[in-house]
Formats: sequence, structure tokens, C-alpha cells
Amino acid sequence: MSVGGFPGRPVRPGDPVRPASRNTTSLLVDNIGELVTNDGRGGDPLGVRRDAAVLIEDGQVAWVGPARYAPAADRRIDAGGAAVLPGFVDSHAHLVFAGDRAAEFAARMAGEPYTGGGIRTTVGATRAASDDDLRATVRRLRAEMLRQGTTTVEIKSGYGLSVADEARSLRIAAEFSEDTTFLGAHVVPAEYADRPDDYVGLVCGPMLAAAAPHARWIDVFCERGAFDVDHARAILACGQAVGLGVRVHANQLGPGPGVQLAVELGAASVDHCTHLSDADVDALASHRIGCMCPDGEHTTTVATLLPGAEFSTRSPYPDARRLLDAGVTVALATDCNPGSSYTSSMPFCVALAVREMRMTPAEAVWAATAGGAAALRRTDVGRLTPGARADLMILDAPTHLHLAYRPGVPLIRQVLHNGVPR
Ligand SMILES: [Zn+2]
Repeated sequence: MSVGGFPGRPVRPGDPVRPASRNTTSLLVDNIGELVTNDGRGGDPLGVRRDAAVLIEDGQVAWVGPARYAPAADRRIDAGGAAVLPGFVDSHAHLVFAGDRAAEFAARMAGEPYTGGGIRTTVGATRAASDDDLRATVRRLRAEMLRQGTTTVEIKSGYGLSVADEARSLRIAAEFSEDTTFLGAHVVPAEYADRPDDYVGLVCGPMLAAAAPHARWIDVFCERGAFDVDHARAILACGQAVGLGVRVHANQLGPGPGVQLAVELGAASVDHCTHLSDADVDALASHRIGCMCPDGEHTTTVATLLPGAEFSTRSPYPDARRLLDAGVTVALATDCNPGSSYTSSMPFCVALAVREMRMTPAEAVWAATAGGAAALRRTDVGRLTPGARADLMILDAPTHLHLAYRPGVPLIRQVLHNGVPR
């Protein structure tokens, strides 16, 4: 009987006299030294609480509060005074591919520039791979992410670039994520190199029809060497017409119209944002949408920054400070892909954002959790408040600051996904 107490420890003064629910298994994460809730309480975006506990029922957060008032539960995890954070929300990842491009990376580090052309190398390998091989790669990377605290990941297609290969990429992605993104417009494949209009017609027609049943989002790489603004607008409008949400890869390799196109279309996120004009920043900052954030709103189009790409291509980092100071909502994501950012580590991205992009540790942690959720227009993840999915990580550290302060160190002690320890 655990009325008013916990398995493994005696009843204390202040324990509520309430039996643990008999209909469901409840789990109490107790003795949390620093709890990041992202509830914005007291003007602190992270909503940090000291000496806290979290009660989990049915895979959801049921209660958050001081440890001394913690309700009874069937099971208990003692956080040992460590920091507990919401699981990372990685809102930008390309996990369905075959092969690797380590040699291309080595050549880049030896001085060759990054052009984006290597995507076609991965397309060839992906088309030649079996379903099981592709599935095994997604499973391996998804597990790698989970070990590093990522409990939500968006997964894009974009290495098939044929009707059948894009559809199967998304079918496999949907086995691992509810946030799947059709990126048939990643690059123009070699067989359409001299007739890009025909490829856009294919993407908007049969490819979209085959992909849409397995996708929540549509995305376009709007960049010199990929798709121009007219093609991007046409493709994204086709996706919107069949009910897909819009995301855009833009302004990674140079200035361009992609950010303003994303805002014009009400995209949930525009990703990379490395080369921005004042007009781009103004456009992002001036369109706002109601949300469950600290101030009740965020910018309609989140700027998702992907510092792993700048690291891996040895390029200048995006100016996060400029975006944050203008009031733009910022997310951090890995861009995990075999060419330009082969990292699955959100802690690494947090450390880069702090050291290289002048984000504070608190801003970086918020961007990697609540920011990612905003970029996916989700309110059930990226926070630890009643009703949210019980996705959390217990650090081997007393505070979230250590994620940036101790780069490269495996600080994720335990991860709970849907309330289940992994
Ligand atoms: Zn990407």
C-alpha cells in the first residue's frame, strides 16, 4: 500500500493522503534539483523550478510541483538532485538515406567549398537501397537521438526524388515520426537537369499525390542551385492545397527570397536563415500568432537555425542574436543528414549555439525544446506542464547550463518517452 508515500521510502510530513490511481500506472520523477518546464512562469521562459517533482500518468504529465507536495505514485524515479528538462524537439532531420559522404567531408575540410551538389550522390545510393536498409538506418539514427535526449524528431524525404522513392521514404519515415515532411523539391535530380519545369510538374502532380498520404508537411530547398522562388512558391502552394503545412529551407548558402516567401505563405518554419537582410528579419518579426508560450504568442514563422550545418561545412554561423533581439521565435535543430550535418546530437547544437551564435544557455535550451515544438506547431511536446506528453530527460548535471558548459560530454543519464523509461 502506498497511500501518502512512495515505494522505497517512508511517508513524510506533507505527503498528501491520496491513494495512487488504481486505473493506471503512475510514475513520480522525484528529487529534481532543477526542473525546466518551459511554462514561462514569472517571466522566465524556461519556467525553472527548484526541488521539484513530476507525476506521470497515461504517458502524460499529470502534475508538476514542489517535491515535498508530490502525490503518491505506483513507481518512483529518484533524480538525485539533478536537472530534468523536456525532451529535445529536433524539428529538422533527413534520416531516410543510404550511404555516407565522409570522403566529401574530408575534402571540404581540406579546402573544397560546399555547394549542395553532393545531395545527388545520396540520391543514387538511396534509390539503390532496399526498404529494410533504409528502415535500419532510420531506426539506428532514431535510437542514437533518443539516447541524446531527443524525444520528438521531424523526418524529411528528399533523397528519392522519384514518385516511388519519395513515397517509400515517407512511408518508412512515418513508422518513426508523426512529423513527416515531403521534400521532393530538395534538388532537381540529374535526369531532369536540363528541364527543371518538368520536374516541378512531377513534384506537384504524381509525386505529391503519392507522398501526401504519408506526410504532414511540405518543404522546398529554395536556394541558388536548387529551386528558384517561383518554383518554390508553386510547389508549396500545391502542398497547401492538399492540406500539408509549409516549411522552407532558405538563405543557407547566400541571400535570397526564401525567407520572405516562407512568411508570405505562413510557413511554420524557415530553416537555416544564415544570410538574412534587414527586410528578412523584419518580415519574420512582424507576423505573430497566438500560442502557449510565455507571452502568449510567437512569430508565425519560426526561424530554425541549424548550426551543425555551418560546423560541418565550415561556414559562418547565422546571427541568432539579431533574430532574438528583433523578437523572432528561434528553434535549434540538427539538420541530421549524411552530407552537410551528420550529427544527431541536440546537446552539440545547443553548445554551438551558445559558443558560436551568442545565444544564452537558457535561450538555446528553450530553442531546442519549446522552439522546436513551435516550429512543428505542437503544444503537446517541448514543455513539462500538465497535459503535455511525458517526454523528459534526466541530466548527469545539476543544471541545464552544463549542456553548453560541458560540450561533448554524455550528460543525458535517462530519457523518458511517453512516460516510459528508455
Ligand atoms: Zn535540411
